[in-house]
This record gives sequence, structure tokens and C-alpha cells, in this order.
Amino acid sequence: STQSATTTRAAPQAKTVAIVGAGLVGGLAALYFAEAGWNVHVYEMRTDIRNEKFSRERSINLALSERGLSALRGARGVDLRALMELAVPMQGRMIHARDGTQVSQPYGVFGECINSVDRRMLNEVLLDAANALPNVQMYFQHELRSASLDAGQCVFFNRTTNESVTVHADLVVGADGAHSAIRRELMRPARMDYAQQYIDSVYLELTIPPAAKGSPQAIEPGSQFVLDPHHLHIWPRKTYMMIALPNPDGSFTCTVFAPSSMLDAIQTPAALFDLFERDFGDAVALIGRDRLEREFFNNPRGPLITVKCGPYHLGDKAVIIGDAAHAMVPFYGQGMNCGFEDVRVLFEHFQRHGVSATDARQLGAALAQYSAARHTDVAAMCDLALANYTEMRASVISTKYLACRWIERV
Ligand code: FAD
Repeated sequence: STQSATTTRAAPQAKTVAIVGAGLVGGLAALYFAEAGWNVHVYEMRTDIRNEKFSRERSINLALSERGLSALRGARGVDLRALMELAVPMQGRMIHARDGTQVSQPYGVFGECINSVDRRMLNEVLLDAANALPNVQMYFQHELRSASLDAGQCVFFNRTTNESVTVHADLVVGADGAHSAIRRELMRPARMDYAQQYIDSVYLELTIPPAAKGSPQAIEPGSQFVLDPHHLHIWPRKTYMMIALPNPDGSFTCTVFAPSSMLDAIQTPAALFDLFERDFGDAVALIGRDRLEREFFNNPRGPLITVKCGPYHLGDKAVIIGDAAHAMVPFYGQGMNCGFEDVRVLFEHFQRHGVSATDARQLGAALAQYSAARHTDVAAMCDLALANYTEMRASVISTKYLACRWIERV
């Protein structure tokens, strides 16, 4: 069937944008375009997460920093105050030694912090805000299969009806993640340079449950946290590490980052407890042995990839943002934050070039400048993210590093 993407209640002369991907970055992009008066159509291959009982996301929680917050501030539809009430600020790292000793390393001297937020909640907030606007339509279970981007055409497979759906839009925005189908379609016509790199480490999530109300395990009376909630906890073990971020319900989500060969070699509960009791002993007590065994052997292990490419756009027809343009390893906690920033910076370029929902004459120039300027910044972020793996798993416990931190403070 053919579906024209020009049927919503927006000004008749408003341009139409097709956003592919309703993840975090696609959700924010939908809001920005809608608030700017575009006719917005969002296509997502999965079901609507807002209707899902359980969703297996890439990470339960993530760190939202000032970079991401300033982009969220640009979307009027996001109630940032309500959102931040559900976030847990983390003012520093807490380094856990093998013997259980904890040492705090503050992020700044003025109480600067990053914020632990629930990924699903944040995505839902963005989709709800976009959905509340009359010029936004969302199509779930629509998987992009192919596109002729120079003609503004996308072909989706509707997983509910098993039909093919062809759509035309003035601008196509690819926010479809690290393995982006829009990027694949953009490569040839945009003469895109492209590089990807998997690191040998994978990640696995575990849970530290909240303490029962009134339990002596809690760090203070009235709290359900069993570790200080205002820190990002790290168990650095040189070639691998575990981290933990707090959740508002008093739990922590731990993530083990380790070479896949190392995790694959652990085949029995005895081997698992040998390693964990030795390296993460204080955490084992908090996770609980039964839960550790269940989660270690059943939870999925995710790969970690860096994607660098450019240019990000094709004329005035298409652009990729978020992980589709620059997937990065999570050690700098900036993948989503950079993706949010993409949206803010894109609209800065629109503004500079006088691009609006009804006047897109300078759209090509705006996209070209965005693409060139943004590439330098996000390529640097990809490198910093890789470098921070060494920082988090090893440097934070090196004598040289600790001496520098000590000198900084005196
Ligand atoms: P995605 O979240 O991947 O969303 C893409 C969407 O597109 C998905 O909904 C997908 O279903 C849809 N899609 C894909 N293909 C198609 C198709 N063909 N047709 C239609 N729809 C499609 N970032 C931070 O800033 N801070 C952190 O602390 C942090 N921690 C992380 C921890 C881990 C373990 C990992 C793996 C990542 C972490 N990140 C973090 C990175 C962050 O998860 C990503 O940068 C972010 O999710 C990118 O958002 P996105 O919307 O660009 O892509």
C-alpha cells in the first residue's frame, strides 16, 4: 500500500519529516520538529514500549549529564522538573577495592553531578510529550526495509499486517541506532566514509535489590539503598570491571564489562563464585548468591561497538543522528547525551539558516554545515569514550592517578 505522509493536522504548507526510530534520540527529535511546526511521522520497528509489560532494553538505567539536559531544556513539552524528581544525582565515583574499602572521587569541587535515570521512563516521557502534539503521528511495528533517499521515499514492513508501506517525506531523519538501516541507504549516495570497531569486552547486567524497609542493611535509617546512592560505584580490576548506578526504588543496576572469553570460561556456579567472591566480594553479599547465579547465567551479554562515519546527510533529503551517526562505547556515559545534543545543534543550524517548517530553502546548507561541524565533535567523543574504559577499569586505582587527584584537592 502507499501511504502519503502528509495527512496530519498541521499547517497545509508545513514540511513533512519522517523520523525512523522512536528510541531516545528519535523521541527528542520528534518533539523538536513538532514544536517547530513540522508535520512529524515517526516509524518504529518495535511495539510501543509504553504498552509493554516488560521490555529488554540495552541498559536499565543510564547517566544523563548536562550535555543531554541542555538539549532536553529546548523541548517545551518535557517537564524537566518532574523528570529530575525521578533521577538520582551522582556526585562522584565510589571506588571499591577487593577488600571492600570504598573511596570517593568527587566529579567536581562545586557538587557537579551526573544523573542516573531509567532508560524506559525517559523514552516514555519523550514519546508521551511528542504524542500529545497534534502534528505528530507514530507508527509502531514499522521496520524500514529500503529507501530512495534522494526521492524522499522510505519503504517499511508493517509487522502487524505483513504489508509493505511506502512513504514520502520532505526530510528523512535516521534515528535508528547503531545498526541503522537509514545509514546503510545513505552510504552510497552520500559517499560516506565509514568505520566500525567492536571491542573484545561485552557487558552483562546484574541487580542489587533494595533493602527491606527498616533493614539494618540500608546505609541509613529510612533509606532502602545498601550503597551510597549519590555515587557511580566502580569495582576496577584492571582488565575488567563492574559498575553500579542507583535507581529511585533503592536498587542498583550493576554492569560487568569483561572480555567475552573470560565470561564464557565461567561455566559453573563454583567458578562464578570463585571469581566474584575474590574480586567483587562486597557486591556478592548485596546481590545475593542465588540472584547472582540466576542473572549471570541467564541475562544477555551485549556487544560494544564504535561507529564513525560521515557525512551524516544527503542534500536536503536526509540526515542521521544519535547512535545511527556515532555509536560509542558506554564508558564516558555520553552516547545518549551526544544524541540529544545532535538534535539541539541541528536546530541551531536550522535557525542560523532560517530553515522553518514552511521555508526549507536553506535546508541543504544547514544540513551540510551541521554534518561537517558535528563530525569533529562526536568523533572526539567516540575516542574519549574508548579511552575512558582504561581510565575506569585501571587508571582510577593507579598510584599516579591517585597522587594527581590528591594534589588537585590540596
Ligand atoms: P537507540 O536507542 O538504539 O534507538 C534506535 C531505535 O530505532 C530503536 O527503538 C529501534 O527499535 C529503532 N530501529 C532500529 N532499526 C529500525 C528500522 N530498520 N526501522 C524502524 N525502526 C528501527 N549513553 C549515555 O548518554 N549515558 C549512559 O550512561 C549510557 N550508558 C549505556 C550503557 C550501555 C550498557 C549501553 C549499551 C549504552 C549506553 N549509553 C549511554 C548509550 C545509549 O544507550 C545510546 O547512545 C542511545 O540509546 C542512543 O539512542 P538512539 O535513539 O540513537 O538509538
